[in-house]
Amino acid sequence: MQRQDIYRTHCVSCGARFTDANVWSEVGWIETQVSGLCEACFDSVASLFELIARDEDGNAIDEDSGSSR
Ligand SMILES: [Zn+2]
Repeated sequence: MQRQDIYRTHCVSCGARFTDANVWSEVGWIETQVSGLCEACFDSVASLFELIARDEDGNAIDEDSGSSR
């Protein structure tokens, strides 16, 4: 039975090798193994998720408000 290396060494998003340059916190290093993203990419993804989460709350998307214009 072959075992694959479970440790990620490169970002799945930008393909950069994980270094102190793109992973600058302890949580960021954990995240490289959890999500496979360097912290730079994770931050941009996290901010996207934050926007989506706000949209789901109905605060950002107001499709009906277009009719009041
Ligand atoms: Zn990256």
